[in-house]
Amino acid sequence: MVYCEVIVDIAHSDVDKIFDYAADCPVEAGTRVTVPFGKSTTTGFVMRVKDTTDCPPDKLKKIYRADDYPAINAECLSLAKKIAARYRCPLALSLRLFLPAEMRTGRVAESYRTYARLADTDYIPSPRAKAQLALMEYLSEKGEEDAARLREKFGSAVNALAEKGALILEKRRVLRDPYKSVTEIKKERVLTPAQETAVKTVLETDKTVTLLHGVTGSGKTEVYLTLIAKALEEGKTAIFLVPEISLTPQMLSQLRARFGEWAAILHSGLSAGERFDEWQRLRSGEARIAIGARSAVFAPLENIGIIVIDEEHDGSYSSESSPRYNTFDIALLRAQHNRGKLLLGSATPSVETYRRARDGEFGLITLPDRINARPMPTVEIVDMRREVKRGNPSPFSARLRERLEACLESGNQAILFLNRRGYSQTVICRDCGFVAKCKDCDVALTYHSEEDCLKCHYCGTRYKMLPACPDCGGVHIGYVGTGTQKVVSELKKLYPAARILRMDVDTTSGKEGHYKILSRFAKREADILVGTQMVAKGHDFPFVTLVGILDADMSLHFPDYRSNERTFQLVSQVAGRSGRAEETGEVVLQTYDPENYILRFAKDYDYGGFYEHEMTMRAATMFPPFAKIVRVMVTGEDEKETLEALKGVYTRLQTVYCAHADDFLFFNRMHAPVKRIQKKFRYQVLMRITDTKVLKEIYDAALAEKYKNVLVYVEENPSNLS
Ligand code: ADP
Ligand code: ZN
Repeated sequence: MVYCEVIVDIAHSDVDKIFDYAADCPVEAGTRVTVPFGKSTTTGFVMRVKDTTDCPPDKLKKIYRADDYPAINAECLSLAKKIAARYRCPLALSLRLFLPAEMRTGRVAESYRTYARLADTDYIPSPRAKAQLALMEYLSEKGEEDAARLREKFGSAVNALAEKGALILEKRRVLRDPYKSVTEIKKERVLTPAQETAVKTVLETDKTVTLLHGVTGSGKTEVYLTLIAKALEEGKTAIFLVPEISLTPQMLSQLRARFGEWAAILHSGLSAGERFDEWQRLRSGEARIAIGARSAVFAPLENIGIIVIDEEHDGSYSSESSPRYNTFDIALLRAQHNRGKLLLGSATPSVETYRRARDGEFGLITLPDRINARPMPTVEIVDMRREVKRGNPSPFSARLRERLEACLESGNQAILFLNRRGYSQTVICRDCGFVAKCKDCDVALTYHSEEDCLKCHYCGTRYKMLPACPDCGGVHIGYVGTGTQKVVSELKKLYPAARILRMDVDTTSGKEGHYKILSRFAKREADILVGTQMVAKGHDFPFVTLVGILDADMSLHFPDYRSNERTFQLVSQVAGRSGRAEETGEVVLQTYDPENYILRFAKDYDYGGFYEHEMTMRAATMFPPFAKIVRVMVTGEDEKETLEALKGVYTRLQTVYCAHADDFLFFNRMHAPVKRIQKKFRYQVLMRITDTKVLKEIYDAALAEKYKNVLVYVEENPSNLS
């Protein structure tokens, strides 16, 4: 008899502790088990196996069922513990990160495969049974093979030999497939000298983390793929993280072409069964590269040689649900544990990352030029105030129209970028100033012309269009601001012959929404692609020679300490979509603030200048990376209860503040900028700290008490402060 320390898969702090169970047969740590719990049964995870227990024999219960393999390997088990401790969440919750959700809900079955090998007999098929003879010869050389594959090759000979007892068929859980060799990997392109140096630097450095700072189109992807191939050749595994996998179909097809079945793609668009199979292939060693968005950092891999985080500056790398981990932190722990490398790539690294690279903590590789010395697109800044003065109310400046017409005439493609979906931003009564707002969220509604309705972009609720103002009865309803729908309808008026595609949240629902639009554009079934920031990410369309940024000010004046950085990144990324092949690209950037230094730096592709300027600002104002922003959110449907909870949280945090006042730059409670989302009132205690040692106490204080109808959570440097 052995004893197992089990964590039950119930994410509640009351049961967030070890329970001892007995097991008849040996069970490994990390194995999923079914156990009796209270009056019912539940699943759980074996954290540790031991020979003795303090649990009195009459209380000790037995494990009902155990998987025949540990779903969570030793490294991940210890990582789950670290995450639970770091972000103060129940262990059950951090363990869940390591499994595909469908495994918990039991909606998928484990896959089995039948393997065939020769039996120890003297049986010899008749000389006429050619297939049987060939099969026996094949297996005597190969030892063992997947029966399904054999049936493809040898047809009914498989079953014939099995009936004669010459072949043993054995059904096994698909755990590993040792019969594939790495030689299937296709030969890579010839690297440019700069790419060669980049690869060599990563291979030879003794630093765990390296930043690859390469302009858009400098060939970063090829560097990643070469390093991943090298890891595989050494018998190691790799993780390749991208911000949003559905936005990069080209990247996926490259990976498939290069690595074939070695790559497992963890993709939210997959069905439950598919996702589970990909996970199983990684767990079993059948696949050795995990590709996906941030959650792929938890891939069940061992012996990780390299982890790549592409577009490392992207906001999607911080989790927005508990535990609110940062992907970089997890990737670093995994790289360190496996003695592997962590490679961060970006054309516009976050200033936090760049600072660590410049200070020598991370390695730094720069690719300053595009492949084949292609020029960067020229960026022209257009002053929209002059357009207004000239009496041009449309979203397009005269200059943009001129360039667009030239682009269409030459048969090339254009991308127009606008970070606002829908038709118009707000609907306002011109008589009394009434603004239509969501009844569950404290935000203005957006008019959507296609459905002729108003939509809340925070909760998705639709409202009927207002025939008259509900406040004053006035009928002069105005539409303020421009969204992607309006841009498309204006374009259609201006260029009836142009073929236009729109890509935003409203056009990309469904499993292949992004893919369909992007592949149609890639096949040149459209001349103009209009979209939100989705169009900015990593696409490589060779025929795009013009990019129009319709309203560069939108993100610039967002009330967030990162808004300068975001704007610089966004402009550089969108601009980077232009002129990627033979013809030089151009960018027309429209703004009401043409002297803005951020836009100037972006125009000149001057990351260094931007960085210096931004760091001076951040140092002067003491914002990250010179301090850390910590926000404790308190949200609930009942305002009184929420305020009650806020009071408790605030009082406890105040004790921390008073004890460490020197480590705080700011400490206060207030409404969150968006006061209500999805019926929930939102309050926050906002802090700015200079020493992270107080973090632990902040978490303890914030989460010390559980409230019945109020949710409390802690965010560190949140990527969204609304
Ligand atoms: P990045 O990821 O830095 O934006 P990409 O990896 O997309 O750049 O590369 C830009 C373009 O250059 C792509 O079309 C790619 O196919 C091409 N490319 C990359 N490396 C090479 C190479 N060594 N030789 C020829 N073309 C290359
Ligand atoms: Zn709403």
